[in-house]
This record gives sequence, structure tokens and C-alpha cells, in this order.
Amino acid sequence: MQFVPWQNIADWHCKACGCCCKLYSVVLSFSEWLSLTKTFGVETTVSGLDRFYIKRVSDGSCAFLCSDANNYYCGLQNMKPEACKIWPFWILSEPKYGDPNQAAYDYRGMRFYVYGDSMCSGLRFGIPTWDFR
Ligand code: SF4
Ligand code: SF4
Repeated sequence: MQFVPWQNIADWHCKACGCCCKLYSVVLSFSEWLSLTKTFGVETTVSGLDRFYIKRVSDGSCAFLCSDANNYYCGLQNMKPEACKIWPFWILSEPKYGDPNQAAYDYRGMRFYVYGDSMCSGLRFGIPTWDFR
């Protein structure tokens, strides 16, 4: 199962493996697209049918993925898109995978459904820790 309800996740710590930045296209809001193109040029983005995305380079990685000898890191730290900030979690307004009760999260009087993408090696499965909650 790729999407795991958050109540089955003990915690999460990014291992800087870079996998998510190599596998997925990053969707941008209009204001994110505007900031990126003003700073780095329109050639760092591509447009789809109704959305803008960060450009991917020839090996499929995000154009802003950087690396040193041991780790990958984001070259957009101060302007990181919202989609990257919340990764590897998906926050939905309706339940979509597994038991809805295990994905439910109440926040400021609203109910959300939160899932972790199990392709992320930084997720540890089990009973959620207090910090993670
Ligand atoms: S896949 Fe997970 S562990 Fe790897 S860089 Fe992305 S968030 Fe971090
Ligand atoms: S913007 Fe940064 S975090 Fe997002 S995919 Fe690109 S390198 Fe990864």
C-alpha cells in the first residue's frame, strides 16, 4: 500500500536520500511560479494543461536538487514550494485510502485526512509518537 493513514506512522525524519525530488513533478501555485520565474527565470518551470511545474532535468530530477558527497539537498530552501514542504504527507478533505478513522485529523474545528507516502524511507511505521502527533 503506498498511502498509509497517519495513525500507522510512528514518526518521520528526512534521510536526505533525494528520492522524492527525483521521482515526482512539483506542482506550483501561481504565486510560487511568479516568485520562481522572477528569481531564476521562466526556463526553470514548465506548464501543463492547467498547472505550472518545476522543470525536471535529463535524469528526471527536479532542476533545484543539489548534492554533496553524502546527501541530497534542496537548492530552494527559502522558496520551497508548499507541495515539497508537506511531503511525504498528503492532506485531503475527504478520506481516500484504508480506514478513514485512522487517517482523520481534527484541526481548528475542521476534519482532515492525512496519509504518508510509503515510498519515503524516512517514515517509521507504528504507533505515533507524541511529537509526531
Ligand atoms: S524520500 Fe523521504 S527521506 Fe528521502 S529525501 Fe524525500 S522526504 Fe527525505
Ligand atoms: S524544490 Fe527542493 S524539495 Fe522540492 S523537489 Fe525540488 S529539490 Fe526537492
